[in-house]
Amino acid sequence: MADKIPLRQKVIYGPVNSRRLGKSLGINLTPPGTKICSFDCVYCQYGETEVKSRVYDPQNAPTPEMVGESLEEALEELSKDPDYLTFSGNGEPTLHPEFGKILEVVRKVRNRTSEAKIALLSNSSKVNQRDFLTSINKVDVPIMKLDVGSPEKFHQINRPLQIQFQEVVDNLKKIENLHLQSLKFTGELGNLGEDLQKWAGIVEELEPREVQIYSLDRPCRFNLEKAGKDRLEEIKRVLATKGIESGIY
Ligand code: SF4
Repeated sequence: MADKIPLRQKVIYGPVNSRRLGKSLGINLTPPGTKICSFDCVYCQYGETEVKSRVYDPQNAPTPEMVGESLEEALEELSKDPDYLTFSGNGEPTLHPEFGKILEVVRKVRNRTSEAKIALLSNSSKVNQRDFLTSINKVDVPIMKLDVGSPEKFHQINRPLQIQFQEVVDNLKKIENLHLQSLKFTGELGNLGEDLQKWAGIVEELEPREVQIYSLDRPCRFNLEKAGKDRLEEIKRVLATKGIESGIY
């Protein structure tokens, strides 16, 4: 089995049947076939981060106009409205220097032509920027990554580029309608055991609407061990004792 999936070649892709979002029309903001991310997670389905960056060069990346036109065309071609328009794609969508403008364009197209909600799958690395926080609070469902409970595990698993764990945690508190996504796995590199208690304590402080818990479902380049359903159920129970809703995907 290949250790990664192919990169997206287009701005709009799908709709895909998402475990978490139903019928989701994806929006990719990187240049076609290029992965750009501020993390290099050990479990990334797209393999190693080729361009590790905190903001990327807009050259070759889609402009707000291109995103708007492509989205409008894709929606016209669909016989049924998707459930979500989802910013995701090859890496971290919020690193596009015109993310705020693109979000406005997507909202305008959606308001005119579709009932779909707008979701964002983000690694949370931009939450320390005020303009980004303003944008993110306009997304219907912002789903932010928080896999771990300590800076050590953050560096070991997410392998960020000059991003402080505590700064991410502090700024996640400022997001209205916060949804968290957390990938759990076992083994030497895993984030269960001791880290799980720290993570659960942070999640309690953040008071998210929901935590989406999942494990490895796709190929990856490291020999990581998938967490079984029973372990994920256990995490769900721990969160429930703290009054936090979660779902296993
Ligand atoms: S944040 Fe997402 S895209 Fe970036 S390396 Fe991690 S899993 Fe891959």
